[in-house]
Amino acid sequence: MIKFIIQAPDDRLGIVATPFPDQLEDLHKDILIDLLETFKATHNCIGLAANQLGHPWRAIITDITPGRGETCIMVNPVITKASEAQQRVNDGCMSVKRGIRNGYTYRPKRITVEWVDVAGDKHRWKFSGLAAAAIHHEVDHLNGVLFLARLIDNPVVFNENS
Ligand SMILES: [Zn+2]
Repeated sequence: MIKFIIQAPDDRLGIVATPFPDQLEDLHKDILIDLLETFKATHNCIGLAANQLGHPWRAIITDITPGRGETCIMVNPVITKASEAQQRVNDGCMSVKRGIRNGYTYRPKRITVEWVDVAGDKHRWKFSGLAAAAIHHEVDHLNGVLFLARLIDNPVVFNENS
């Protein structure tokens, strides 16, 4: 189902999402379908996290290719390594449509990510550049962190108390 993307400020964007169990049940698969369908229906979007749709579970979807031919759903993604070298990113978020829409953040240039796919297979890949930035941004969501909190100039924290 195509879901509404929750807009900041909203306490649901500030909570730490829960890991999926090893064995996905129908309920969990429905969450991943919502993520895929909402992503496909959202223009100019390179990534979403399940908790942006009101599902407080650890899953993200990303695709940085122009035609979105490499859409990847990551269940329980973990960044196991992040380079000390940072990149300056022109960041933005589908949950931040009001007020500040874009701003510069620093994110690691290279990351290693482990995750499980929809079929339950484990993966471990290295990403760099925009892909690393996009995945880092989405994993931030799962930890209740918006890019606004990382703005190089004037960070904004909406969900301080949640
Ligand atoms: Zn976002």
